[in-house]
Amino acid sequence: MIVAIDGPAGAGKSSVARGLAERLGFHYLDTGAMYRAVTWLALHEGIPLDDGLALQALAAANPVSFDDGRGVSVAGEDVTARIREPEIDAAVPVVARHPEVREVMRVRQRELGRLGDSVIEGRDIGVVVVPDAEVKVWLVADPAVRARRRHLERDGLEMEELAAELRRRDERDSVNTHRAPDAVEVDTTDLTLDDVIDRVAALVEAAR
Ligand code: C5P
Repeated sequence: MIVAIDGPAGAGKSSVARGLAERLGFHYLDTGAMYRAVTWLALHEGIPLDDGLALQALAAANPVSFDDGRGVSVAGEDVTARIREPEIDAAVPVVARHPEVREVMRVRQRELGRLGDSVIEGRDIGVVVVPDAEVKVWLVADPAVRARRRHLERDGLEMEELAAELRRRDERDSVNTHRAPDAVEVDTTDLTLDDVIDRVAALVEAAR
């Protein structure tokens, strides 16, 4: 079974998807981490971020992999911490915008999603990557709450700076962010993480 969890940055996708996967014993796939890893590699190798074909070749030659925990690797490097830097936050929508890059990533995402029951988080999973996912969830949250959550994850950045960064990223990502018509919307603003996981787990039960 595939559970697709889509929504904007800071809506709670990672915590919910990871917690749900742990609870159900499903694989967990963070597609944002894949775009981040390719972006890191492009910056590291000095590939121009406006060159879609060069980025596509880079992504195809360097498939992103995950270890059992939270580790992300690309081109033999463990990039788990490095892909969460503000420099990557700013550059990743530029890389993710190229259709050529998305094509390669989609293939890899489907390949990883076929390993077994999986929770896949992203922005286009329920519409583009796995349109026949058995459960589709669209997570949303109030912008102030999203900025506050990001603040807890990112040391040293001011709240206003984070709110502005999230707004900028929403705008830049909007073209590739799709809400499936058959997705169930969950507003996480006033819910605890456990509440959200309970709700999504109930949807999974109903779909079994
Ligand atoms: O979810 P996260 O914030 O880690 O995603 C990082 C970036 O990767 C997003 O801002 C977006 O540009 C890109 N992304 C995407 N499609 C996905 C997942 C992430 O374009 N399915």
